Amino acid sequence: MSKRIKTRGKLYIISGPSGTGKGTICSRIMEERKLSLSISMTTRAPRDGEKDGQSYYFVTKEEFENKIKEDKMLEYAKVFDNYYGTPKDKVISRLERGIDVILEIDIQGGLQVRSKMPEDSVLIFILPPSLEELKNRLNSRGTESIEAIEKRLSKALDEIRFIGEYDYYIVNDDLEKAVGEALSIVDAERLRVPPKVKPIIRQYEEE
Ligand code: ADP
Ligand code: 5GP
Repeated sequence: MSKRIKTRGKLYIISGPSGTGKGTICSRIMEERKLSLSISMTTRAPRDGEKDGQSYYFVTKEEFENKIKEDKMLEYAKVFDNYYGTPKDKVISRLERGIDVILEIDIQGGLQVRSKMPEDSVLIFILPPSLEELKNRLNSRGTESIEAIEKRLSKALDEIRFIGEYDYYIVNDDLEKAVGEALSIVDAERLRVPPKVKPIIRQYEEE
């Protein structure tokens, strides 16, 4: 029988410029390992094909501001003129049940989560191979207007300047390599010695 003990879940925070491949990498991580994706709440309008409760919970500005007042958000930020945030309850209850959770959120949000839950958080930054390639990816994804793409590109370098606050970084040039690196991080984090080691030692004392 395995002597590994069940521990509290980890909170994987995946950030990086828009279009760098966060969504693509997160879906692949979840195909390969057991992790749960937190569905964010936003006031941005749904894109074609985005479903409420799957891509995001789409709400009005008033609804979002009420959630903030009621202290229902783990973190939130204004990104590209809209509110985006992580509803608190589900994340906390999953961690308590030993389930790892992925948050695909911006840097302002990532840093809020780290300061609130430093022992639970693993911060991973996804970089594009170049800003030129980032532009190509946003153009070929075809989900934003030209103005929205320009806004996202002009923010990219400001975001990259925060990389020093993160624990790990992955350059998403070749997707398979990037996914492999993300899985290595998850695997290594799962092998960490947990904060409470007595239950591990006790198993040997009781032999
Ligand atoms: P983000 O979630 O960071 O905004 P997406 O995951 O939506 O980014 O990826 C942006 C676009 O780039 C998508 O069209 C996606 O298919 C594509 N893409 C993601 N990773 C790669 C890669 N390694 N090489 C080429 N295209 C990629
Ligand atoms: P998009 O509009 O492309 O879906 O997301 C735009 C930006 O918002 C991305 O950088 C994404 O990481 C960020 N974002 C998505 N959900 C959240 C969230 O819950 N909190 C924060 N702080 N940022 C988020």
